[in-house]
Amino acid sequence: MSLPIYFDYASTTPVRSEVLDKMLPYFSTHYGNPGSNLHHFGWLAQEAIDLSRNQIAAYFKVKPSGVIFTSGATESNNLAIKGFLNGKSKGHLITSKIEHKAVLEIFSQLEREGYSVTYLEPDVQGQITKESLSKGIQEDTLLVSLMMVNNELGTISDYVAFKEICDDHQICFHSDATQAIGKIELDFANLPHLLSFSGHKIYAPKGVGGLIMHPSMTIIPLVHGGGQERGIRSGTLPVPLIVGLGYAFTFIPQILSCSETLFHFKEKIINELLSNYESKILINSNSSNTISSLLSFSIHGVYWEDLLNSLTSIAISNGSACNVKSTNPSHVLTALGHNRDLALSTLRISLSYMSTESDVNFLIQYLSEKLAKITK
Ligand code: PMP
Repeated sequence: MSLPIYFDYASTTPVRSEVLDKMLPYFSTHYGNPGSNLHHFGWLAQEAIDLSRNQIAAYFKVKPSGVIFTSGATESNNLAIKGFLNGKSKGHLITSKIEHKAVLEIFSQLEREGYSVTYLEPDVQGQITKESLSKGIQEDTLLVSLMMVNNELGTISDYVAFKEICDDHQICFHSDATQAIGKIELDFANLPHLLSFSGHKIYAPKGVGGLIMHPSMTIIPLVHGGGQERGIRSGTLPVPLIVGLGYAFTFIPQILSCSETLFHFKEKIINELLSNYESKILINSNSSNTISSLLSFSIHGVYWEDLLNSLTSIAISNGSACNVKSTNPSHVLTALGHNRDLALSTLRISLSYMSTESDVNFLIQYLSEKLAKITK
């Protein structure tokens, strides 16, 4: 067994070997620009882009024109939210306190620009309720952005109810679905009007992602240039990355078929840890509506730096990897009421279809030994 063992698949995933194999020719022999429509090299690249777009559209059950390629979920969120608002008069917006920074920072900027924003509070299980959304809506609400699966807690939101509420009020509903793809079965008949996703969470490369747009949506571009992606997102398309992204989508049914095994692993970790450390461990969401691959718990009575420094043989996170080495407590756990020390003494374990029973057994034994030492 080679150490450390990776339990941080919510931060990023490796590129699947089949996906990498599909990408490689597009770095070397098939290097054409899809915009070069006068020769074979360009045609090959364009064919590859079309195939990827069709693979993604087929997965989401949307028209290929509803797929916009971007550099990842951060860009998709910016394009969706700012692109939708671009050109409209200022008004009220709704999001939540437990969104990823790639959404929250957009709203901070929009507040500086003069929009008013309501930040919905999670309930004790880390869920945003449809009742709180209904209450938050105002006469001039233009857009709601609520994530589909929370990256720190693994909670699955009631996005279908959110969509219904937004439809009733003719409000645009955007959802950051980065942590939902490959983790939950989507309700394709009730997708948000705008949906962001990222390649590197689904065994495709980093630096590529997309935005799924309902045909009724108009996005005014943020970046101007050669008019690629129907003018919505200009810039030469990164063909190898897009080839990998589309192909990665074809494996999602197989990845989802592993959910039950992961659920069993997660239960085993919870049960074993709680049986020894029940009074010390706080599971961060007991909602039944959580994904099977993610477990977050906080540990009382340990100094967080001792805790994290002691865990050298496992690769885990104490929150979101996207908070760039911050020693600030997670805003998600703070929103749940954790104090700074408890929020920092948090372990997020995220599993994959690649995780094995022996990985999980090692994790349980290793954590139990370390906790025995530092919780004395
Ligand atoms: N949203 C969520 C929920 C995420 O988990 C992440 C990645 N941690 C992002 C957005 C950012 O995605 P990307 O790295 O593709 O910009």
